[in-house]
Amino acid sequence: MINQKMRKLGAKRSVIRELFEYGKKRKSEIGEENVYDFSLGNPSVPSPEEVNSQLVRLISEEDPVRLHGYTSAQGDASVRAAIADYINKTYDESVTADCLYMSVGAAAALTSSLTALVSPGEEVIVPSPYFPEYKVFIERCGGVIREVSCNARLQLDTKAIEEAINEKTAAIIINSPNNPTGAVYNEENIKALADVLRRCEEKYSHPIYLISDEPYRELVYDGLTVPYLTKYYDDTIVCYSFSKSLSIPGERIGYILVCPRCRDFTSVYQAVCGAGRALGFVCAPSLLQKLLPGCLGKTSDISVYDRNRRLLLERLSEFGFEMIRPEGAFYLFIKSPSGDANEFCERAKKYEILIVPSDDFGCPGYARLAYCVTTEQIERAMPAFERLANSYKEN
Ligand code: PLP
Repeated sequence: MINQKMRKLGAKRSVIRELFEYGKKRKSEIGEENVYDFSLGNPSVPSPEEVNSQLVRLISEEDPVRLHGYTSAQGDASVRAAIADYINKTYDESVTADCLYMSVGAAAALTSSLTALVSPGEEVIVPSPYFPEYKVFIERCGGVIREVSCNARLQLDTKAIEEAINEKTAAIIINSPNNPTGAVYNEENIKALADVLRRCEEKYSHPIYLISDEPYRELVYDGLTVPYLTKYYDDTIVCYSFSKSLSIPGERIGYILVCPRCRDFTSVYQAVCGAGRALGFVCAPSLLQKLLPGCLGKTSDISVYDRNRRLLLERLSEFGFEMIRPEGAFYLFIKSPSGDANEFCERAKKYEILIVPSDDFGCPGYARLAYCVTTEQIERAMPAFERLANSYKEN
């Protein structure tokens, strides 16, 4: 029999994907240059030079049978060793290759981690606004999502998180820099969260895992740094992805890091491997794994996103839009002038502007604009944004 839960998931695409598909159709009708598509977090900046040069080197120099063959389920040992080395040098950590499990992007890192750590009926705390797929991933493994709103400065509301944690809480997922708001949780905030989690572990006598979803770690502005979570809390699992930092989201490569000081480390790591096996991942793409040692520490040209961010903040506020100033990632959260996210996004569509309503991010009244597009597209869209803003003034 068809699994109806899965059928429904497949029949109704995510709002983001729905809008992206609408954009493709609209572009074929009126021309690409006349649609201002800000729907998807698909990087527009080319990959750093090392991505192509490493791929060419691998294909021309490596033994093709080994290059394209299966790797160990947890990933190629030398690749994991190189990543462990990089993490230790960059974040003053002491992880080893055996703490790492290579994954098919952050999405697979998250589904594997959740499957490893959450049993049916257990709860996962998710600060809102949040990436909508969390709900899908949590519910797939029989878990229950428990949303906790961030505070007005979009930092974690640690008091509300403490109140939401109960004997059924298995984990919390945090995402900083954040999709959809661009917020970066500062060190004080992370320390307060770690204190809360430690207190609650003590109170309920079981681990509460901190799952840190980090596809945007390197995408920060104004000289900010993103605290490295294992330094603050031992029961941390990092879900990292190269999708955004190297502009390779379609290639699907990332990893899970289980903090070496995590309680029951061996069991947690085994459960991650077991989850990857149960989900049928076999191993992460071999070629992409082997690309990584030559690309660690490299990123696409992030200054383009910063330029886009500044341009949007300046021009959209001139038109009267209220926004949250993003500190990282490449998303701008714009307040709906009517207070209704869907109304705002539907109206924007009339001006060929595609932005995503915030309701699915667990937060009403906003729209998410993905500014990982060309600066030229942003400039071209400005008259449409002005008309959109004026349409509210006319009412
Ligand atoms: N987590 C967040 C917050 C994201 O924004 C995304 C993708 O946009 C993912 C996870 C999935 O990333 P990946 O493409 O590496 O699977």
